[in-house]
Amino acid sequence: MDLSQSVSIYIHIPFCRSRCSYCDFNTYAGMETYLADYTAALEKEIHLARPLLKTGEFIHTIYFGGGTPTILPAHQFARILDSIRREYLLTEDVEISTEANPLLLTAEGLRELRQAGVERLSMGMQSGNARELKLLGRRHSMADVIQSMDFARQAGFENINLDLIFGIPGQSLESLQESLEKALALQPEHLSLYSLTVEDGTPLARMLRDGRIPEPDADVSADMYEWLMDYLPRQGFEQYEISNWSRGEANRSRHNLQYWHNYPYLGFGAGAHSYFGHRRWANAAAIPDYIECLQSAQDWQVEAPPAAEQASLLTDWDEIQERMMMGLRLTEEGVCAVDFHERFGKDLEAIFPKEIASLLTNGLLEWAGEEQARRLRLTHRGRMLGNQVFMQFIEG
Ligand code: SF4
Repeated sequence: MDLSQSVSIYIHIPFCRSRCSYCDFNTYAGMETYLADYTAALEKEIHLARPLLKTGEFIHTIYFGGGTPTILPAHQFARILDSIRREYLLTEDVEISTEANPLLLTAEGLRELRQAGVERLSMGMQSGNARELKLLGRRHSMADVIQSMDFARQAGFENINLDLIFGIPGQSLESLQESLEKALALQPEHLSLYSLTVEDGTPLARMLRDGRIPEPDADVSADMYEWLMDYLPRQGFEQYEISNWSRGEANRSRHNLQYWHNYPYLGFGAGAHSYFGHRRWANAAAIPDYIECLQSAQDWQVEAPPAAEQASLLTDWDEIQERMMMGLRLTEEGVCAVDFHERFGKDLEAIFPKEIASLLTNGLLEWAGEEQARRLRLTHRGRMLGNQVFMQFIEG
């Protein structure tokens, strides 16, 4: 199947029981009273967007992200999925995933999620160390992660990702190694490992400013990342994206690959982003604003989607830059020169002659693959300095 003809759906669930200290996502604690109205607004947005898809366009991935999607009762998951199935054509092997917080998972809730059609779980473990979990403001323990994995396996989940964070203030390489061993003992099919970024305005940033915790050490984080890139392949995990490893190709996140390939997706919910028909838009971030927009919406205007706060028509140049930024994240695949030419009618090397030459000379990029299907990708060193590479392809 030509994936460029397939569309993905992202559903944003911006509810959390409490805020983690590092979090700057669009999510809110203590607003569960809006859950029923929010689900109704999602169903309406899903319905209104239906005419965007042309005959023959299928949905091939659906992803519930947050926030904490597992705050939704399973019957509300089922309602949202039913409305997608009612309105859209789904591929036979559609991938349906949800993010999950180990604190909120029960054996029964996970069974109901499987029955609703969810087949991939992405669980926020973050660390196996009690001090680090506390610093991150995570309310769960390692015991909760172990129990949730057990419930999930019993419920029939065969594709489970564990998210971990490294570069936590005060974290040593040994501590990361211990957390990773605890994660590997649970035999996940997929691992996402993110270097901690301290975002302005978060409680973690305030703790740093007040000197209550040590500054994250960039050299230690770089050593950790280097160690992960060396160690995980020896444990049977292939790195296929800067922060993502899977046991074999079948366990990769097809939904996230849609983003990294710059293929179209529709984002529903408060603050959700969409990329479709050479347009980008972002919905109102606040839950009551989003609900209100949908309550008063009658139809879908392409230039001004019902809950959109920002919307723009992309130029070729916008899309070329995004293609480079996202495609180079794919560490094995990179950006295929032939695919690039088919998509933009332009030669990759003719557009970025100086940038590519200098990054090749500096050992940050390399060409891989056969002459007829050459792919430009990050070298091992380039992965360590990804942001520097990406900036070369962004207009200053
Ligand atoms: S659970 Fe996730 S989305 Fe919610 S506050 Fe924590 S990091 Fe943010």
